[in-house]
Amino acid sequence: MSENFSRRRFLANVAVAVPAGTVLAQLANAQAPAALPKLEETDPSAKALLYVHDAKKVDTKNPLAARFKPDQKCSNCSQIQGKDGEPWRPCGIFPGKLVNANGWCSVWAKKA
Ligand code: SF4
Repeated sequence: MSENFSRRRFLANVAVAVPAGTVLAQLANAQAPAALPKLEETDPSAKALLYVHDAKKVDTKNPLAARFKPDQKCSNCSQIQGKDGEPWRPCGIFPGKLVNANGWCSVWAKKA
């Protein structure tokens, strides 16, 4: 193996490794909950599922809230993601947005 070949191979590996490292760092940042915007109650998808930041404000007269019970909130829903205790967390139903730990929507299902 010539020195030129080894140098060329080294440089080619660096050229591949640096962008891959940069992409991984960007993905890690993209997953950080603090970087995600909060879901607005006025968002059409939030409105469609009766999402509210505070489960005490659920519109219990709406037929979609028929299964609502006062102890239900995002922090004890099977769709909640992120760390326990965080006030705003990702949710599997609203990708790319944070929901309030005390919120609720009509998709609520008990966390196992
Ligand atoms: S699916 Fe669960 S965690 Fe997500 S907004 Fe609805 S109640 Fe909250």
